[in-house]
Amino acid sequence: TVTTGVREVGVVPVPLERLASLLPPDRVERLERYADAARRMLDGRTLWNVNSTARGGGVAEMLHGLVAYAAGTGVDIRWLVVGGDPDFFAITKRIHNRLHGVAGDSGALDAAARATYDATLARQGREVLDLVRPGDVVLLHDPQTAGLAVSLRDRGAWVIWRCHVGLDEHNAWTRQAWGFLRELVEPAHSCVFSRAQFAPDWVDRTWLRVIPPSLDPFSSKNTDLSDTQVRALVHREGLVVEGAPLPVDGRVVLQVSRWDRLKDMAGVLDAFARHLEQLPPDVHLVLAGPEVTAVADDPEAAGVLAECRAQWRTLRAPARERSHLVSVPMDDVEVNGLTVNALQRWSTVVVQKSLAEGFGLTVTEPMWKSRPVVASAVGGIRDQVEHGVSGLLLDDPHDGAALVAALASLLSDPARCEAMGRAAHLRVHEHYLADRHLIQWVELMGQLMG
Ligand code: UDP
Repeated sequence: TVTTGVREVGVVPVPLERLASLLPPDRVERLERYADAARRMLDGRTLWNVNSTARGGGVAEMLHGLVAYAAGTGVDIRWLVVGGDPDFFAITKRIHNRLHGVAGDSGALDAAARATYDATLARQGREVLDLVRPGDVVLLHDPQTAGLAVSLRDRGAWVIWRCHVGLDEHNAWTRQAWGFLRELVEPAHSCVFSRAQFAPDWVDRTWLRVIPPSLDPFSSKNTDLSDTQVRALVHREGLVVEGAPLPVDGRVVLQVSRWDRLKDMAGVLDAFARHLEQLPPDVHLVLAGPEVTAVADDPEAAGVLAECRAQWRTLRAPARERSHLVSVPMDDVEVNGLTVNALQRWSTVVVQKSLAEGFGLTVTEPMWKSRPVVASAVGGIRDQVEHGVSGLLLDDPHDGAALVAALASLLSDPARCEAMGRAAHLRVHEHYLADRHLIQWVELMGQLMG
């Protein structure tokens, strides 16, 4: 599924009224005002998004929703995906890992890596430049596209680099990755991060913006489902790749993540197996991640999944009967979304034991579904969850015993679970829907294009 060219993702416009149906009148009125402003500002020009995958991962997930709403306001918005060969994605994954403060692999970010990176983006750049006109606005997402900034700026486009990853406290690895990216990113007119702490100190503060992600309540991943639909989706054949079929009666603790070591699926499984006696006997663990062939820009996924499967096979009863690895189909956005949606609704508590996280949509999604979340207090998750109110935060992401203790305390107190779930839903409603997000983008464009 690795493609090397540039391709366009078609998105069906969605009228803003759909989103408006969930919002109080003052938010609807504000959103409409900004939509008008965006139409006037762009005035026939195109707003481009460029990233490296159409599915799998938070960026793709979010673009499907945002692009559709923006298109629904009458703005000319388009979405391009740049491909690359395995060497290119090995380097961009290395950058991604190091921006999160870990080595990832033993490779270097040296002149040779830069030459491979530049060669790919030079090829992509020609295709992108054929499409973009002077005055257009281009949002480049993540390190995979940063190298397009300079040529797009030369072309006369407004260039915004949107970085979705980062670490609160920079270390030698983050500094190395930022050293690689600096020259590529600096030509952008503006840089956008999910948290202010993620930005390296050389980013021009005048044009540094913090814009957290958002979730689309109407996507197949988040739309309401009946209990019957949920049951049919989670009990269908072929979903579980290790372990028994999902329990019909028991309660479920779930983590949904890409197969990425920083999500620490292995750590969740280990903590669950090691401290299982602390949890009520009806509790099962489900670890769900994408079918690996589908995530073209992640060369580590297959290895991480294989490790988790091997780890599962070493388990003995009762952990073996009570933990399940799930492979979520990725070839159909609708089926993918409905599957994750049903798993999240099937769960009593959702876990996100990430070792680093720019912003976890896998935290916001279950919160929207009124599920309490137990998550590591890292990166954007610290903004997403208010500890003790809309979920529980774990200070040490490596501490499996603390994770299970937090789960045990929630699972033994259904009333607290429910209250936290309600608070979680309200928090997403207030802070993480597309109206806030779209408005922040329009504000930035307005300031740039003056
Ligand atoms: N996701 C999915 N299927 C999977 C695993 C993840 O659709 O098997 C989705 C998940 O629902 C979420 C996104 O991928 O929408 C992950 O985004 P997040 O911000 O949590 O992390 P990222 O993958 O961007 O690091």
